[in-house]
Amino acid sequence: MQEIYFDNNASTPLAPTVREAMSPYLAEWFGNPGSSHHFGEAARRGLELAREQVAGLLGCHPARLVLNSGGTEGNNTAIFSAVWANPAKKHIISSQVEHGSVLAPLEFLAGQGYEVELLGVDENGGLDLEALKRAIRPDTALVSLMGANNETGVIWPVGQIGGICRERGVLFHCDAIQLAGKAPIAAEALEVDYLTIAGHKLHGPKGAGALYVRRTAPFTPLIMGSGQENGRRAGTENVPGLVGLGQACALAMGVDEAAHQRLAALRDCLEAGIIAVIPEVRINGAASPRLVNTTNVSFRHAASAGLIQDLDAGGIAVSAHAACESGDLDPSHVLRAMRVEESFLHGTLRISLSRYNTEAEVASLLAFLPEAVAKSRQGFAM
Ligand SMILES: *Cc1c(COP(=O)(O)O)cnc(C)c1O
Repeated sequence: MQEIYFDNNASTPLAPTVREAMSPYLAEWFGNPGSSHHFGEAARRGLELAREQVAGLLGCHPARLVLNSGGTEGNNTAIFSAVWANPAKKHIISSQVEHGSVLAPLEFLAGQGYEVELLGVDENGGLDLEALKRAIRPDTALVSLMGANNETGVIWPVGQIGGICRERGVLFHCDAIQLAGKAPIAAEALEVDYLTIAGHKLHGPKGAGALYVRRTAPFTPLIMGSGQENGRRAGTENVPGLVGLGQACALAMGVDEAAHQRLAALRDCLEAGIIAVIPEVRINGAASPRLVNTTNVSFRHAASAGLIQDLDAGGIAVSAHAACESGDLDPSHVLRAMRVEESFLHGTLRISLSRYNTEAEVASLLAFLPEAVAKSRQGFAM
């Protein structure tokens, strides 16, 4: 049976060179980077190279980085650092379409007496920067807004948001997990105070990520212990994982315009193919700037769960929305915020490609999809 993977916004396959780079750290170079013997020295060197590689991708000094366990930890650390630094400020601005790893800590803070204001989006997933400006108050502790949406791929103008926050003297955190490896990031130039990335979204391993912290931004560690990461993130480092993260960042820097264009063409071909053969579809967020790898498509009067199962039975992996939510059949909070019509909402697929996907794979999905959608529509209670 064919094995086709179109769920790269949930997680990506390891790049072969990432696995090669990690491999010695899973074998002979197993030492603790905090040890003073040569085993420790080897691990330490791996870690410091990784830090330089991540800094290269983010365009920042390596000392600005806190290496950690991934996106969720980075987002939590940034949010709590910002609010704990200004206990008198009780207002937080974010958006309705953020990832759960931002929304859940904000919900916790709302329970602790914070006023959390979640900005809405327009029908195309776009953010109203004037609404952001109006929302900022003297007691705003933090603005947390993502760089690119994991469900729709819609990209927000991080530089402009950073400029607004800087002008108003408010701390700005950006979940850039979906941007990293797909669009350029220059953390210092973007005027972000905190910026999060995760290895497994850019062909690195799971459980390894990095948080950029501007030199002037307040920081309080979430995890305390023996002083690793300059006292900012305790616990013996996940050396193989972080080495893999570093290598993945180095690889992402090598992805040129041609590769980018190839991926964009593949995605455009997929969308054109769907629109040509299946009636009553909408591509969510298509009118906004988007990541070149992501298609979020809704089929009217169809059901995602059955579609995903049918495609999976044919060896094709896609998803409905964020991986952690797939267990339930609730429609996406992102599409709800975009006011996608009820008749389309339940028949949504997120198809996210990577540079490893081929034209033949897209053709295979296009051959399979019309029948699967027709079947889903037949079973749909109208
Ligand atoms: C995957 C993802 C996260 C969570 O990252 P983990 O490394 O899986 O914890 C957060 N935000 C966005 C936008 C993501 O795509």
